[in-house]
Amino acid sequence: MSQSLQGIGMTSQRTRDRMVNRLIEQGVRNHKVLDIMRTTPRHIFVDEALASRAYEDTPLPIGYNQTISQPYIVARMTELLVNKLGHPQKVLEIGTGCGYQTAVLAQLVDHVYSVERILPLQKKAKTHLFDLKIKNVSYIHNDGGWGWPEYAPFDGILVSAAPSEIPDALLEQMAMGAVMIIPTGESGGQILQRVIRTDKGYEVEEFEGVSFVPFLSGRE
Ligand code: SAH
Repeated sequence: MSQSLQGIGMTSQRTRDRMVNRLIEQGVRNHKVLDIMRTTPRHIFVDEALASRAYEDTPLPIGYNQTISQPYIVARMTELLVNKLGHPQKVLEIGTGCGYQTAVLAQLVDHVYSVERILPLQKKAKTHLFDLKIKNVSYIHNDGGWGWPEYAPFDGILVSAAPSEIPDALLEQMAMGAVMIIPTGESGGQILQRVIRTDKGYEVEEFEGVSFVPFLSGRE
């Protein structure tokens, strides 16, 4: 592994270990998720000027008014998804952003289908995942409000931006037994939800309050 992937100083393995210890203190329990976050270099997903802050428990700017989600949120959403599913085959991700959440997911599922509405961010994400040799991801530049019907139904859906209501297309693209993790609500009052599709309909559980960028329509 090259020095830049491996990291030094504030981007070293020791710093990553400290981040994982903090995630455990914050209540993250899934060992597979913790192990993946221990080995995935988060600093390569942010601009070099911010690399020394990549392992802090904070969102950081990734350009275009968007942010990389804080480590706790990535861990929490991933855990809520895989705890119910074990090893999902097909997962739809809405909001590729810089690709960090994509990289974590891709190490836990057979294939990730990732949708991003801002083209330059999608390009950055592709480069980062290429550098990490992560190949089981398909990308599309589109409004995630449409899901990705060509590959539906999905075993899991993970949404990294907050709509005021869950888009119907996403509910329709869930397989029976599938799980969707999605923040919903207006800024200042968003809540993390888990939706499970059953033969009787959709069960919704609510988790903690969260602060995501808004889910926007159209493409840029
Ligand atoms: N998981 C990403 C989160 C990035 S922020 C990361 O850690 O980097 C949320 C992302 O969702 C942004 O890149 C934003 O452009 C994207 N987004 C917002 N609304 C969207 C929509 N309707 N369809 C696709 N992507 C969307």
